[in-house]
Amino acid sequence: MSEYNRVYNFSAGPSVLPLPVLEKVKDDLLNYQGSGQSVMEMSHRSVYFKKIIEEAEADLRELMGIPDNYRVLFVQGGGIMQFSMVPLNLLRNSKKADYAITGSWAKKAYKEAAKYGDIKVIASSEEDNFTWVPKFGREQLRPDADYVYITSNNTIYGTRYNYVPDTGDIPLVTDMSSSILSEPVEVEKYGLIFAGAQKNIGPAGVTIVIIRDDLIGFADEKTPSYLDYKIHADNESMYNTPPCFAVYVAGEVFKHLKATGGIKAMQEKNLRKAAKLYDYIDASSLYKCPVAKEDRSLMNVVFVTGNADLDKRFVAEAKEAGFVNLGGHRSVGGMRASIYNAMPEEGVDALIAFMQKFEAANK
Ligand SMILES: *Cc1c(COP(=O)(O)O)cnc(C)c1O
Repeated sequence: MSEYNRVYNFSAGPSVLPLPVLEKVKDDLLNYQGSGQSVMEMSHRSVYFKKIIEEAEADLRELMGIPDNYRVLFVQGGGIMQFSMVPLNLLRNSKKADYAITGSWAKKAYKEAAKYGDIKVIASSEEDNFTWVPKFGREQLRPDADYVYITSNNTIYGTRYNYVPDTGDIPLVTDMSSSILSEPVEVEKYGLIFAGAQKNIGPAGVTIVIIRDDLIGFADEKTPSYLDYKIHADNESMYNTPPCFAVYVAGEVFKHLKATGGIKAMQEKNLRKAAKLYDYIDASSLYKCPVAKEDRSLMNVVFVTGNADLDKRFVAEAKEAGFVNLGGHRSVGGMRASIYNAMPEEGVDALIAFMQKFEAANK
């Protein structure tokens, strides 16, 4: 890392990318594979870009084991726009949907959906400031709900679902923005998975939607064309200009993941990284993790000292020492170390060493 004077970046998003991918992008920047142009400059209808987007999809399908009856869409608008696209497309019969509220993102999604239908909160951990993830199953659901909605990993509160809720025949929709590609996923258990790229995939600008094909084609006729999944599916994500450069970098991340052992190897590394950090925090007399042990995120590790001034000092001193973006979300304070796929294990080791030093100096 020192070669470029890079810091250890614990940002929750946009976040660190694998160095070999950045180097590859740098090498390709001015003349992408003999095209004489950068990817930023070429037509999205060119043979070069067609190959880029097709390979990105094929590699993602291979990495995640996405079944043939699912479509992969590359769209814009971020995770936030999916908060609208999901209800606009999937409230197709009863106009009812059941939402589990496990953090601010889930709450925002719920509020957006409530503009379009009869949306029910079926589970929530808000009373406890979202420090755990509720268990629910078919019994809690309305049998005629059009879909059920969860947030797989709660980026701000540092929690995650450690199980896939059983929703029977009701399609399960999940916001996987901050955990996609961090561990294997049984795609067939979901009706729709979406993820903004800038946490665990690539640069901001592209959002990935993985949707079971029988759920496509139900948008209300007043739905803006861009927000209709069918438009994107029928046009192979080329209804309009896609975010070409972001798709390209995401594709390079997929290739890098494939070349380094795929998602299983990535999961093992992520489990090791998270275990080291949580074990250290749990054993420490200065730091505490407020999250219930069984629901702790592998990607976003939230911790506090219990003293807001000391937390601020920690974040500032960490920054001086080359560990950046360790402040908790502006709504919760404290600290948060986002240790996405691209955070090397040495980064976590170095952070723990810094935390030990800070602890010794502040006994
Ligand atoms: C970051 C994030 C979002 C919002 O994504 P944008 O791309 O900024 O719209 C939504 N959900 C989750 C879980 C996130 O982490």
